[in-house]
Amino acid sequence: MTPFVNTLEFSKTLDASDTLSGFREKFHFPILNGEPAIYLTGNSLGLQPITATLALEQEMKDWQNLGVEGHFHGKNPWLYYHKFLSQSTANIVGALPHEVVVMNNLTVNLHLMMVSFYRPTPKRYKIIMEAGAFPSDQYAMESQVKFHGYLPDDAIIEIAPRAGEHHLRTEDILAIIEKHADETALIMFSGVQYYTGQAFDIESITRAGHGKGIKVGFDLAHAAGNIELKLHDWNVDFAVWCGYKYLNSGPGGVSGIFIHERYANDPTLPRFAGWWGHKESERFQMRKGFIPEFGAAGWQLSNAPVLSMAVHNASLKLFDEAGMSALAKKSKTLTAYLQFVIEKSNLNLNIITPPVERGCQLSILTNDDGKEIFMHLQQNGIIADWREPNVIRMAPVPLYNSFEDIFKVGHVLNTYKLKSTAN
Ligand SMILES: *Cc1c(COP(=O)(O)O)cnc(C)c1O
Repeated sequence: MTPFVNTLEFSKTLDASDTLSGFREKFHFPILNGEPAIYLTGNSLGLQPITATLALEQEMKDWQNLGVEGHFHGKNPWLYYHKFLSQSTANIVGALPHEVVVMNNLTVNLHLMMVSFYRPTPKRYKIIMEAGAFPSDQYAMESQVKFHGYLPDDAIIEIAPRAGEHHLRTEDILAIIEKHADETALIMFSGVQYYTGQAFDIESITRAGHGKGIKVGFDLAHAAGNIELKLHDWNVDFAVWCGYKYLNSGPGGVSGIFIHERYANDPTLPRFAGWWGHKESERFQMRKGFIPEFGAAGWQLSNAPVLSMAVHNASLKLFDEAGMSALAKKSKTLTAYLQFVIEKSNLNLNIITPPVERGCQLSILTNDDGKEIFMHLQQNGIIADWREPNVIRMAPVPLYNSFEDIFKVGHVLNTYKLKSTAN
């Protein structure tokens, strides 16, 4: 790769040779100061695809015109709606179509997966997770161990970075797994850490867990649609993610789950059941006795939230068109360019995201000026995000961010005057 140059012209040449640059036109951008914003918060809420409204209108129209008959005679019959999203979803996470289903919301799904895969025994009841996980995941783990009668402080083993470091070393994760193997029931990690942006070695963690008879699950909220995943090949037991971050499904949008195919037909695995997870061919016989549908679909509870899923599907189609590997490839260059312009700026910013094990997000640890720098970006048309106590996160998304965007970020950073020179 040619070395980066910190000029507008250079950023434009990168855009000119970017085969994905056209996807930018397929999204709505928020307007700041009368201009489309430079949007770096696709890690928090992805932008709206222009096709989302059309997809939504289709379902609204079928509802208007068909009422309940839309379940059978709609353009996309609602009865089978979840299936319309399975192949695209599988492409994104590296799964077989029957290993995934879109349903509910993320934290709900996390609990449902825990019902099936966190099966503590008096000897093996602990959960190993990263320290500083997203609060919802911490609360889910805490309430799950309590639900089974254990004390969180005893039952949850958190792995923290070494003193003076910001991210975890895989060797340390593997050492903790080894050390606590006999008492651990579940390893539960994020795929990409929401605060630091670290991408964990899902394959190695899974292999280490399985070597000790431990179930291994991942929360991919910040990984799905961000990094290339191969959940099936990596043998992950289960995973969950939300649709509204990199996957652009809209606020509170639907979530996805992955359950490895080895559990597809396993009736011994306990689960919380609902009618939509019942064997499809017999669902409307309304008989007693739950028989799960094959694969991840057998974990569904309720009939599909079609309006939310229609929006999600519009975005999934863009992912199909672009392809995850092309997106991941562009993403690496885009984020490397962001790192370059940040390092070129005269603000002495400290990027705590690992240089290699990462997705598109960079987390920048700031000093006294952090909040002001963040406000300065906002005043200059750049939407980044602020995480207490002192981190600015920027996530250039390959579907809709350009190299020119990144050049401008560097330029705006350079127009900020530091309050303290003791930086
Ligand atoms: C965004 C995020 C959530 C949010 O959970 P919801 O149930 O969708 O509100 C949970 N966990 C992680 C790791 C996240 O990044």
